[in-house]
Amino acid sequence: MVGAAMRTVEIAPTFEGWQAAARTLLREGVPPADVRWREIATGQQPSLIAEPVTPAPGAVRVPRQFLDIARLAASASDPARWQVLYEILWRLLHENHDLLKTDADPGVRRLNALAKREGEGAAPFVPPGAGLAELRAAAARCTGCELYRHATQTVFGRGPADARIVLVGEQPGDQEDLKGAPFVGPAGGVFDRALTEVGLDRERLYVTNVVKHFKFVERGKRRIHQTPRMSELTACRPWLEAELAAIKPGVLVCLGATAAHAIFGPDFRLMQDRGRFAATRWAPRTIATLHPSAVLRGEDEAQQARLYGILLEDLRLVAGV
Ligand code: SF4
Repeated sequence: MVGAAMRTVEIAPTFEGWQAAARTLLREGVPPADVRWREIATGQQPSLIAEPVTPAPGAVRVPRQFLDIARLAASASDPARWQVLYEILWRLLHENHDLLKTDADPGVRRLNALAKREGEGAAPFVPPGAGLAELRAAAARCTGCELYRHATQTVFGRGPADARIVLVGEQPGDQEDLKGAPFVGPAGGVFDRALTEVGLDRERLYVTNVVKHFKFVERGKRRIHQTPRMSELTACRPWLEAELAAIKPGVLVCLGATAAHAIFGPDFRLMQDRGRFAATRWAPRTIATLHPSAVLRGEDEAQQARLYGILLEDLRLVAGV
């Protein structure tokens, strides 16, 4: 039986249609249990028209991640999706701002199933033939694998579109995740020092990673890097392909084993095969060297110096091209 307070809300069956109605319902404090959603044909007048909303100072903010998932869920065909979306939105604002991290929650699971966003990889998010700026904007909304869920943001490549040299690492680290730029943490410090020593101007290089979201486990207050799985590497691959297609570099440098395997294949042995140019379909001169973080992981100063020397040696070859 429908309670006295039940509201039937008619919406155009689009994310924007739902969003406009949801804003009005939230403003009026209508709980999800009191709403029945009804889809109307596009062009018909919806029952609730929201005024344009300017967030009030201090207003509760909906996590960006929710908006990304909600957009995907809105394109599903299940008529219950509007209710699911509003329930989750309500709970995010009234119960738990971190609700989406609770994978076991039935509502979150339902939402994720509607969005069907995991396991599809980045391909549906990559605009075909796009330039770097458009790719970067699209990558910010990528939910092609589960890594976006716990990371702060997508860390897309940085550098000029006409860069002659592209360098590819594995994935962003803790600092990169927070700042939204690649190679800006401790490994980035080693990287910058090495570039300066060999005379490469970072401003003229394009620097990116095979995987665009930070993968980590939490240990106390620290976030410890985890190596991405093959499924995550595969999922994220379309972004790297699109970056390389847009830039068409003359020289491609793989930093570390993950990048080297992504470009040269699984049989590549970094310490044996590094420091030699080969032609690949991405660049006429492709080479691999150590990841700068490997230098930091050296057991003692002597080993760190030796590893740094290897990195310099290989980057000198790149600078000499
Ligand atoms: S890691 Fe790559 S594929 Fe996965 S969500 Fe991030 S950008 Fe998308």
